[in-house]
Amino acid sequence: MAILPVSRDRPAMIRVDALLRDARARVEPSDAELLLCHLLGKPRSWLFAHGDDVLDTQAAAAFAALIERRATGEPVAYLTGRRGFWRFDLRVSEATLIPRPETELLVELALDRLPGSGVRRVADLGTGSGAIALALACERPSARVIAVDVSPAALEIARGNALELDLHNIEFRQGDWFAPLAGESFDLIASNPPYIETDDPHLAQGDLRYEPAGALASGADGLDAIRIIAREAPAHLHAGGWLLIEHGWEQGEAVRALLTAAGLIDAATQRDWEDRDRVTLARKPLDGA
Ligand code: GLN
Repeated sequence: MAILPVSRDRPAMIRVDALLRDARARVEPSDAELLLCHLLGKPRSWLFAHGDDVLDTQAAAAFAALIERRATGEPVAYLTGRRGFWRFDLRVSEATLIPRPETELLVELALDRLPGSGVRRVADLGTGSGAIALALACERPSARVIAVDVSPAALEIARGNALELDLHNIEFRQGDWFAPLAGESFDLIASNPPYIETDDPHLAQGDLRYEPAGALASGADGLDAIRIIAREAPAHLHAGGWLLIEHGWEQGEAVRALLTAAGLIDAATQRDWEDRDRVTLARKPLDGA
């Protein structure tokens, strides 16, 4: 797939600026630019200095196909296979949820509760692409992070991300929530579980249509997964250890109640940058319980 310099003896094929002009009319301009950069393996800055370069017909056809898929709704992250999260450019696939900026709030709240030194044991339940686990492992090199997912295909992606980022204080295990953590306890357990109501019409809209249903929806009230995590967390937390759960903006009160009913204390909900309830945290009492 060649980018050819403009030349008098070669018939100009398709100029980059013309190709982009058409694409920007079909999809979000920034999506068009991102997809072209992805296809050509170029940084965004390249585009603006190379509008008069021409692409061969093969490259132009490949770009047209990407634009077509984007126009019918496929998420950009699945078309490029990547999504920025924290300070990483993570690999994602249709086996993983696309990491959201809201989840960075959960990472920050977790880091506030993980001292920079000392071996802390951390679990990330339903890790998907590994976003939360990788951010915690990267920021706390002395911590030991275990990332769990029920999907082998998601774990494959997450493992690849850990390799790319050269993070070695992270271990991946396949299974349902706490199933692969029998008999183990942690200083901190984090999760961005599925939390959308099964019949929420949003599941049939936008990016959500392409994301794994099992990573999004969780029962009639969206709380099935959180109920399991809340119920089993105390047995897997050290005294004083924290549980942090991401949830829907209308679920704060229900999640606080579930964590409190499970025997955790100090349940509190934090709001995201859109000022919506997003993460609830609670800890295990120091005297055991
Ligand atoms: N935040 C996602 C959304 O509502 C859902 C993610 C999840 O269920 N964990 O679009």
